[in-house]
Formats: sequence, structure tokens, C-alpha cells
Amino acid sequence: ANRKYIVGNWKMNGLRAQLSDIADIAAIAANHEGADVGICPPATLISAAVQANPGFAIGAQDCHFAENGAHTGCLSAAMLREAGATYSIVGHSERRADQQESDAEVKAKAEAAHAAGMDAIICVGETEEERDAGQAIEIVTVQLARSFPADASADWLTIAYEPVWAIGTGRVPETSDVAEMHAAIRDKLEELMGQGSDSVRILYGGSMNGGNASELLAVPNVDGGLVGGASLTAAKFGPIIEAA
Ligand code: 13P
Repeated sequence: ANRKYIVGNWKMNGLRAQLSDIADIAAIAANHEGADVGICPPATLISAAVQANPGFAIGAQDCHFAENGAHTGCLSAAMLREAGATYSIVGHSERRADQQESDAEVKAKAEAAHAAGMDAIICVGETEEERDAGQAIEIVTVQLARSFPADASADWLTIAYEPVWAIGTGRVPETSDVAEMHAAIRDKLEELMGQGSDSVRILYGGSMNGGNASELLAVPNVDGGLVGGASLTAAKFGPIIEAA
């Protein structure tokens, strides 16, 4: 089994006043050495969060695929790395939906993150319509293959399975469905990269909270969690870290 990895994705939440929540979360993580823990605050807080919490893993929520250039409002992987982020989420379903990010862009973003010295967490997941149509596994494994970086290695790559219909809804798939999907992702990883694929961590994301984390984290091939709403305070995130 892989070492558990619990990552909080703050999305578009957090001003400087919330830096104390990151400090509180980092303190809980420091007392829980059995798992890797990190927070991806908005990019505006990365630098301050890194400076205030040495040794705690601060990540980015997205990065551009280009090294630099005329892309107003965007941030390159090197900029985020320089700010102190050691990894970046790429291909979150909210960006795939709101910014129309394609699998090809997500692949390029993961490669850009790695080239800049960051690790990457690639997100995949099906919509409710796709699951209802019995296509969830096909959709997710194809998305994974098309978003998959050329130079993948467990040293820097993590996958997050986030069913779109479970994000922010309080709805969580049956553990048997999570097990089936994570096993399918594991098989696909072996097909895509061969040796070393067993060490790539596969996180579950979507309405994970202190009440369901133990059960979800016990599912085979669930190597951790990508947590949104329940990562915003130490009171909510602490129990998830402690479950890992
Ligand atoms: P919630 O935990 O708020 O459902 O969000 C999950 C998610 O999208 C994490 O990236």
C-alpha cells in the first residue's frame, strides 16, 4: 500500500486572514507523520503560506502549459514554483468546465509543472449523465490516457479521481463503485507507464469529510484524498488527516 496523501484544494477561497487556518492545519499534519498532507490555497497566498509554514507542502491549483508569453492573467509553472509551490493540481473538473480545458492542455500542464520542478496531481472524473449511462469507467480511463504526461513517474505524478456529481454536493459514490474505478485507473496506469505504476498514488475527491474519510481511505487503491470544502478549516480537515 502507498503512503496516504491528503490534499486540501481551497479553490477560490481564502484571504490573508485565513493564513492562520493553514498554520493550524500544518500543525496537525506535523503531528501526523504517517501521511503526506498539503494545501493548495489561491495563488495569491502561496508565498505567504510557504514562508509561514516551512516544511509544509503548499501547492498550486493550476498552472499554464506555456513557459511564458502573452497570456494575460495566467501563471506559469515556474512562477508558482518560485512562489514556493512544490506541486500543482491540473485538470480539475471546474477548470475543464469553466475554462474549457482539454485533455491535451491538461497533459501539457502536467508536463510544464514537472519541467518547472513541481509535482502534479491530474484530476479525472465522470459527470452524472455519464455514470447513469454506464460509461463512467470508459470516460475516466480515456480521459486519463489523453491527459497523461509523456515522462510520467510516481516520483512526481499523482492522479485524483473526482466524480463531478460528488463535488460539493454531499453525495459520495458507493465504496464498491470507488473500488471499481480506482482499480480501473490502476490497470490503466500499468498500461500507460508499465513499471512503477503501482507507486502512483490515486486520490479520491468529492464530498470527503471527517465522517466518511476512514471508510473511503480504506478502499483498495485509494491512496488519499483531494478535499475541497472540508479542507478550509483545521476543525474540518483535522479529522480527515487523522483518518489517514
Ligand atoms: P468538495 O470536497 O468540496 O466536494 O470538493 C472536492 C474537490 O473538487 C477537490 O478538488
